[in-house]
Amino acid sequence: MTQKLFERIALVGIGLIGSSLARRTRRDGLAETISIATRSSTTLEEARSLDLGDEYSLDAAEAVKDADLVVLCVPVGACEGITKSIAGSLKPGAIVSDVGSVKGSIIKQVRPNLPAGVHLVPAHPVAGTEYSGPQAGFPSLFENRWCILTPEPDADETAVAKVRAFWEACGSSVEVMTAEHHDLVLAITSHIPHLIAYNIVGTADDLESVTESEVIKFSAGGFRDFTRIAASDPTMWRDVFLHNKDAVLETLGRFSEDLSVLQRAIRWGDGELLFDLFTRTRDIRRSIIDVGQETAAPNFGRDVSAMPDEDALATSKEPAR
Ligand code: NAP
Repeated sequence: MTQKLFERIALVGIGLIGSSLARRTRRDGLAETISIATRSSTTLEEARSLDLGDEYSLDAAEAVKDADLVVLCVPVGACEGITKSIAGSLKPGAIVSDVGSVKGSIIKQVRPNLPAGVHLVPAHPVAGTEYSGPQAGFPSLFENRWCILTPEPDADETAVAKVRAFWEACGSSVEVMTAEHHDLVLAITSHIPHLIAYNIVGTADDLESVTESEVIKFSAGGFRDFTRIAASDPTMWRDVFLHNKDAVLETLGRFSEDLSVLQRAIRWGDGELLFDLFTRTRDIRRSIIDVGQETAAPNFGRDVSAMPDEDALATSKEPAR
């Protein structure tokens, strides 16, 4: 069942996440009016041609006027500048939210720049693909995914409830936690895996004894999966690592220690250690399937039927460019 939750929603940034929100909001009538802002005229025209909203602007301050909900859908590092530019145009009682993959930094960037009477409810949909841009979005992106809210202890409860209702209407399950805890959890579940993928693909690219064509020709399943992750947007991921520095470095330290243990086990032929670890990790995979985050189907249970078709993705920002 769908219901209107807001009169006017403003999406600042209209890439993969912003355009998926626009599509969902439009499809299910979650807002009367969708106002869209982005910094480049190319992206704005793309959004217009896809009919993602009702109003379009290159000026974020213009787009957020009279909005009940403003969602910043831009790279994490861009949030401070944008908040400063829209602050004077926000209506009293408006809710400002975001979709950034790091939360502590967003609060530091946004909170001090908001006028009194405007509510901040940071959010992170744990959903995405390796594609970018307005073409890459689709309305079911958030379906059966988690969205984590990280309101501060004194956050307005009504505002938090409205943002929760919005994400639930987008198909997500919502969990609330502190920004600090979010950043630690996501460091291990998302940020470090991306760093490893970027590193392993980079190492393969740098190997002198293996040619690039051999890497591509003989890419086994494991490597191919890493290349998919390593094709994620460079700007977004640069910002994630620069803005979740402490949690990433702490988790990376732990990861490096564990890697040394594996290195040692291989050197000394400790098959038992390897076998035990690989058995434990397979159980984790099974648990992820059990809770419905993936299916047991081959190809890692990826459901590609809900994704935009290949022609649309071909015109979205090609990964790894
Ligand atoms: P995207 O597809 O690359 O779109 C980014 C949008 O932000 C575009 O509208 C772009 O505008 C605008 N933008 C980029 N740099 C900017 C800057 N310096 N100042 C102002 N606007 C700027 O990105 P996305 O994947 O939707 O990611 C958006 C946010 O969602 C990020 O904070 C990311 O951490 C978070 N997130 C992403 C995923 C994922 O899998 N991709 C998942 C969860 C959360 P122009 O095109 O006009 O330049």
